Amino acid sequence: MIDIDVALEAIRSRTDELDRFTVDLHEALGSVLAEDIVADIDSPPHDKAIVDGYALRAADVRAGSGTFRVVERIVAGDNPHLEVTEGTCSQIMTGAPMPGGADAVVMWEETAATHNNSPASFLGGAMPTSVTVGEQLVRSGQNIMRQAASFAVGEKMASRGQVITPPLVGVLAEVGRGVVDVVRRPKVAVLATGDELVECRTRPAAGQIRNTNGPMLQALATVCGADCADLGIARDTHKSLRQFIEQGLAADVLLISGGVSAGVLDLVPSVLKELGVEQVFHKVRVKPGKPIWFGKQQTPVKRSGCLVFGLPGNPVSGLVCFELFVRPALAKLMGLTATTAQPHAGRLESQYEHHGDRVMYHPAVAHANRTTGWSVKLLPWKGSADLRTMSAANCLAILTGDPPRLEPGDPIEFQFLGGSGLGI
Ligand code: AMP
Ligand code: MG
Repeated sequence: MIDIDVALEAIRSRTDELDRFTVDLHEALGSVLAEDIVADIDSPPHDKAIVDGYALRAADVRAGSGTFRVVERIVAGDNPHLEVTEGTCSQIMTGAPMPGGADAVVMWEETAATHNNSPASFLGGAMPTSVTVGEQLVRSGQNIMRQAASFAVGEKMASRGQVITPPLVGVLAEVGRGVVDVVRRPKVAVLATGDELVECRTRPAAGQIRNTNGPMLQALATVCGADCADLGIARDTHKSLRQFIEQGLAADVLLISGGVSAGVLDLVPSVLKELGVEQVFHKVRVKPGKPIWFGKQQTPVKRSGCLVFGLPGNPVSGLVCFELFVRPALAKLMGLTATTAQPHAGRLESQYEHHGDRVMYHPAVAHANRTTGWSVKLLPWKGSADLRTMSAANCLAILTGDPPRLEPGDPIEFQFLGGSGLGI
């Protein structure tokens, strides 16, 4: 039995980033960038007004007020034609380029406009002929966003290894990237094993249970951004396992549920060995999840061999092992820079007593407390088969057994389920 850190390192060192390819921007969401992105233009591309109003020379508003002749109307998308000179201004709309000579914009709400000496409205009708700026101090640069204030041409906008989130899709569009290089998504095959299993649409007969893990593992891998294939249920016979596993080894990752404990029908490790999958480790000091098996397919062809995770059949054990070991492997395959979840610090709400020498990942709910930070409540969990309680958890409390007894308010670490803000 090995420690979690040792297992993680063994997985990490055998996991290589997948190949890259070019996709259309509208298909890139959720993938990981395989290239650094550089700006091809300045943003904004010109000095622009950030309010609707009048562009003028700040120094002309002497003694806090002044009247200006309006020379031009500039809307977003226009190019200004006329210079603003002493005593003149241009009517300007949000986003429009600043005219030469002007160094400030006064909001129209702070002005009184006239058209041939009659009061004029800002929006409707003809352009005002003159405008009076009320009592106020006008600063040079007021209500202007300078050219390249957001970013300048040549500036790095995003880095290889970043997840393409919705805002990043916008940024990529802003710098003209209609296509982008991303890392290929991993193909994950999911295989449930067990003579007792029936598929979820079937009502189990005596001695049977429904296949919970197949759909759950598929869902977990899909949320991570993998391309998932369900292989169905293999029976606990050499022949059945061999047939299904052989098929699953075509994927980048094969997740097998069940058949890796110490029972007489736990044939998975021996079938994997027969099919050329080298065992890297079997059994980790973690609770639940101790029987986890990990190996890598030896392959003569020029492609990285399939990573095989033999996950314990008990659903919560399988889920915890996915969170701890499979998720970081998928993150690395997908090219993410940050691949392991960072634990958070919190305070335990209730008493806890540790038994045994394995690190316990206990279903829990963490909620933010304004004064004391994260408060972690252990759920009344009934063990590895109790997926229902697990489904109410938002995190796993990490209970190391050091010290063996914890009191309410004691510091503990926990990790959120469903990733760590990595985007997977
Ligand atoms: P195993 O790891 O195959 O020894 O299975 C351990 C426990 O998990 C047994 O009680 C199995 O019935 C149960 N189990 C195995 N596979 C599944 C599955 N796909 N869905 C739900 N429970 C399972
Ligand atoms: Mg079994």
